[in-house]
Amino acid sequence: MRQKSLIILKPDTVQRGLVGEITGRFEKKGLKLVANKMAMLKPETLREHYAHIADKPFFPGIEKFMSGSPVILQVWEGFEAIDTIRTVCGVTNSRTAAPGTIRGDLSMSYGSNVIHASDSPEAAEVEVKRFFSEEEVFEYNKVIEQYSYSEDER
Ligand code: ADP
Repeated sequence: MRQKSLIILKPDTVQRGLVGEITGRFEKKGLKLVANKMAMLKPETLREHYAHIADKPFFPGIEKFMSGSPVILQVWEGFEAIDTIRTVCGVTNSRTAAPGTIRGDLSMSYGSNVIHASDSPEAAEVEVKRFFSEEEVFEYNKVIEQYSYSEDER
């Protein structure tokens, strides 16, 4: 099934100059970029986005980190994209994330772990709408998909 995933390249990614490296990994993987912009995240948006961790002791630090410097917001589309992207990102704690994954290769941190990626189709739908208007998410034909997918996956 074709899916869209909301990606946040976190403030550490922008500050450390890793936007191109991470974006390039998704491009090379064969995913399709359908939305892309820079933003400063507001604390109230973060409390909504991170409602499932809002009562954790580390949350105030996460809120300060995520709202303190700009992020890059992206939507990537592809066949079974949500699980594929989570696998490419690696587990939440970058120190234990497998080599070859984005977090495993590029980060030493649990909290400042370079990237957010939607964890389910339901979450992705809500998250894409949280950060992008309808006209900011593009529908277009990526011609290379004729070669980057087999016929039954297109
Ligand atoms: P993920 O981003 O992998 O989906 P969660 O949704 O569980 O992980 O957590 C959201 C974010 O909160 C993580 O990406 C990370 O930045 C931070 N976080 C989660 N658990 C911890 C923790 N135990 N210590 C520090 N930061 C954490």
